[in-house]
Amino acid sequence: MTLHTAEALLLDVFDLHDQDLIVTLLTRERGKVRGVARAARRKYSRFAGQLQPLAKVRVVWFEKSGSDLVRLSSVELIRTADALVRGLEGILLAGYLAEHMLEFAQENEESDHLFRLLDSTTEALLAGVDLDLATRYFEAWVLRLAGIFPSPLQCPECGNELAEAAWMPAGAEGLICMSCGESAVGATRVSAGAVDFLRRIGVTSLRRLAAGGGAPADTLSEVADINARVRRTFLQRELKSHRVMYDTLARVEGA
Ligand SMILES: [Zn+2]
Repeated sequence: MTLHTAEALLLDVFDLHDQDLIVTLLTRERGKVRGVARAARRKYSRFAGQLQPLAKVRVVWFEKSGSDLVRLSSVELIRTADALVRGLEGILLAGYLAEHMLEFAQENEESDHLFRLLDSTTEALLAGVDLDLATRYFEAWVLRLAGIFPSPLQCPECGNELAEAAWMPAGAEGLICMSCGESAVGATRVSAGAVDFLRRIGVTSLRRLAAGGGAPADTLSEVADINARVRRTFLQRELKSHRVMYDTLARVEGA
């Protein structure tokens, strides 16, 4: 058995049986770590209160060779995301951000960039940055770090530099230039504002983007659609939490 200590962000918790929980964490050094928190469901458990969505913790675990589940020894809270997950929208968003990591981070693989992205996005949300802006930034960056959706600088079809506006081909593999897009069947026009947003996130932090006024609502809604289409093309399905979030919020708004 080997002992490990790391800072981690809490992605997911579910009941294993009567007393134990299975916890999935994101670490810088080891990517996703899945472990059992023994007796964590007991009233006076040493894990009580520590296992909250998007919480930043210091975790100690034991690893046994041949087992893909580690055993969590202790979890110490560094930063809660309480203020974010107090409301319905925040809870849904936390699940959505976490599912990106469950999907895109690997086990036993260094994940410093994904860790920093989730950590800084959570911090920005806790500091009051607009949910919509933070979510668009986060989605686009996950796709960028996965190498699926690079900064829209060059047209992948002809190699020419992309102008202000662009097109997204029917297959949603990325953005192509105006002249390639004109002749592509089923391509969607992408506004200059959306292209600019996708470029700016590559050179600006979320906090600075927010301080500079963020982006207009119609641009953010266009970027939401672009991110979702690129992600779906890659995954061949949508994230479960995406539908849950939109369906629930639509029901609440319609009620
Ligand atoms: Zn082109």
